[in-house]
Amino acid sequence: LTVLRELTDIIIKNPDISPSETLPDSDPSVFHKRYLKKMRDLGEGHFGKVTLYQYDPANDGTGERVAVKALKQENSQVLEGWMKEIDILKSLYHSNIVKYKGCCTELGGQVVQLIMEYLPQGSLKEYLPKHKLGRPQSLMFAQQICQGMEYLHSKRYIHRDLAARNVLVENESLVKIGDFGLTKYIPEGDIYYRVREDGDSPVFWYALECLKENKFSFASDVWSFGVTLYEILTRCVHRQSPQEKFREMMQGTQEQMTVMVLIKLLEKQHRLPGPENCPHEVKILMQQCWAADSAQRPSFETLIEKFEAIRQ
Ligand code: ADP
Ligand code: MG
Repeated sequence: LTVLRELTDIIIKNPDISPSETLPDSDPSVFHKRYLKKMRDLGEGHFGKVTLYQYDPANDGTGERVAVKALKQENSQVLEGWMKEIDILKSLYHSNIVKYKGCCTELGGQVVQLIMEYLPQGSLKEYLPKHKLGRPQSLMFAQQICQGMEYLHSKRYIHRDLAARNVLVENESLVKIGDFGLTKYIPEGDIYYRVREDGDSPVFWYALECLKENKFSFASDVWSFGVTLYEILTRCVHRQSPQEKFREMMQGTQEQMTVMVLIKLLEKQHRLPGPENCPHEVKILMQQCWAADSAQRPSFETLIEKFEAIRQ
């Protein structure tokens, strides 16, 4: 206590020393840039870049490894969304959602990096082609994704970017949802979120109403889950990926016509093919996730029950 009092005195007498600098252990969610030692790049998407660092304040190589996400480019347009992404992740606690650890603010306070737990196996997209999952394991992963999503929906968030590339692997029996960059809050009473921005959207994971009317809802996340389930069962093999399969179906469509042709295809009830060796019940579940009428799609709660029954 006396030490604290003395420190407080020092701070009062020296207003330019910030408390977090004099008390490095006071807030475990404050990470100092000078203790972050870069190890390697982990991956990147449209807006973010994720890097593995060791956080080593003792400077003896014993520090923990953390995944650090930063914006690829910083402009005012994406900055607001970035702060929201950090706040959303900070508010989520679930065993199937990647854990928030803290932030690293550069001097001046502008640039903020998001510090999260490091999942050594990377995303399902890297993991699946290299590991031969048995069916029970694939279905367990699928159910865990549903559990994380059910929690997210219970907090009235929609993810909007559920895909194998955004599901992280802790080990052979645990996956977690990551990347809340497109997540939106749906106020009580509302049923969907309408986006204005567009451009590089993951259209092959999008439900029909998202493509046609930019309407995102809890049910459109279920559609994307169906595509993610398809990715798991095709082990993220590139030639069977949603984009390759849809491109095959759309044969030689010009890039700028993609969305229009995709809408036509989906309206004619065309869907991704059932993966090889996919159990019949799972194929049915996938089809239900892709019902044209969003009200007909199962909820994540229902999906969890179905997976439990199938896995018996
Ligand atoms: P973006 O918003 O740019 O898509 P993501 O959060 O999806 O960024 O991260 C990009 C990639 O980085 C992921 O697909 C994954 O391969 C890797 N990655 C992200 N977070 C972690 C983590 N916590 N541990 C290990 N790898 C990660
Ligand atoms: Mg991503």
